Amino acid sequence: MQHVVVIGAGQAGASLVAKLRSEGFDGAITLIGGESVPPYQRPPLSKAYLLGDMAEDRLYLRPAAFYADQNIALRLGTRVKAVDTVTRTVTLDTDEAITYDALALTTGSQPNRLPTSIGGDLANVFTVRDLQDADAMAPHFAAGKRALIIGGGYIGLEAAAVAAKRGVQVTLVEMADRILQRVAAPETSDYFRALHSAHGVDIREGVGLKALTGDGSVTGAELTDGTTLDLDFAIVGVGITPDMALAESAGVTLDNGIATDAHGRTSDPHIWAAGDCASLVFKGQRIRLESVGNAIDQAEVVAQNIMGKDLDYVPKPWFWSDQYDCKLQIAGLNMGYDSVIVRKGDADGVQSHWYYAGDELLAVDAMNDPRNYMIGKRLIEAGRSPDKAAIADPATDMKALLKA
Ligand code: FAD
Repeated sequence: MQHVVVIGAGQAGASLVAKLRSEGFDGAITLIGGESVPPYQRPPLSKAYLLGDMAEDRLYLRPAAFYADQNIALRLGTRVKAVDTVTRTVTLDTDEAITYDALALTTGSQPNRLPTSIGGDLANVFTVRDLQDADAMAPHFAAGKRALIIGGGYIGLEAAAVAAKRGVQVTLVEMADRILQRVAAPETSDYFRALHSAHGVDIREGVGLKALTGDGSVTGAELTDGTTLDLDFAIVGVGITPDMALAESAGVTLDNGIATDAHGRTSDPHIWAAGDCASLVFKGQRIRLESVGNAIDQAEVVAQNIMGKDLDYVPKPWFWSDQYDCKLQIAGLNMGYDSVIVRKGDADGVQSHWYYAGDELLAVDAMNDPRNYMIGKRLIEAGRSPDKAAIADPATDMKALLKA
């Protein structure tokens, strides 16, 4: 193996190239990224960075010098426009061609946008995906401004928390019956609804956006229940779509993302994929895991497999979200749950929700409860399922469950 080319200089791409070197790969490595800044972490873009509590250079996953020190050619501000799988060549937007022996696609995902027909292209309508998005919206987070957030998933709720903290009057609409419906149990939705309401966010569930209005810039919104709002800005948090454009044009198999096998390889033996753009089989279903933990772990397995190891990627899903003073930590995947056990802690707001399918523990949502998060995570990763009654019983010594 002489030349590994990685397209997409985000969390997965940066993890992949670092792992190649730390595992002793001594061939050439090229990491190509469409953005002009070194690979950085996205989670703070809707949390501490948006709030102004974190400087830009603290977002960077590694100091810029790391890549030169490791003899990794980092091509920033450069997009790959084509992949030729026969000649094993990628073509950059500058028309430069680079040949590869192994290619990794770590192209991430794109935020879904509102159609132009309902005001999606008005000025001051933002999505939250990259540094430019966060920098563009941050100046609008000022006391007395009026914002509409469309979508009650984690990104929308985090943006709502930052805006409310900055004194913005926030309305959040969620088309589904409840916020977090796609990803969490009603108990978790209830927890976060109450948290946001306590901070003055006006959450409207079962209500969609009919249209954003304004002449050039957004100044208002019409909701599906007939309500109208006056606005200074809007944030769209309605999910993401994996970036599969290159994979598709290269003829690689797509299936709910760029389809990878257990090794992270695509349908082309020389092309691998990892992170948000890649789909994988988990418990018999082809899914995508849109999280930092997955981007790192999958990319590191791919790096080792490119070097000829034969490792299966077994995801250990985990996720977090920060809203106001609440840290939510999630272990496992709740897909297919049929019951939820609520365990309250001693202090106000300390709580964990345990998802079961029958008697099998699938996942835990822990709110300001790192101890139960760790216990849940270890149990799930060990494939162990404590009795539901024990979880529900406040007298249970939770740590003892790890030894049982
Ligand atoms: P990305 O980090 O998106 O990197 C992909 C890169 O590929 C991009 O820079 C893109 O420009 C580049 N690219 C695409 N196509 C090309 C091309 N043709 N040529 C060159 N470059 C290209 N996860 C958590 O676990 N916890 C959280 O709290 C959390 N919060 C988040 C908050 C926000 C605001 C966002 C946006 C995401 C959050 N996530 C969180 C998700 C997490 O950041 C992603 O899952 C992770 O970044 C995925 O890494 P990736 O490398 O697959 O994609």
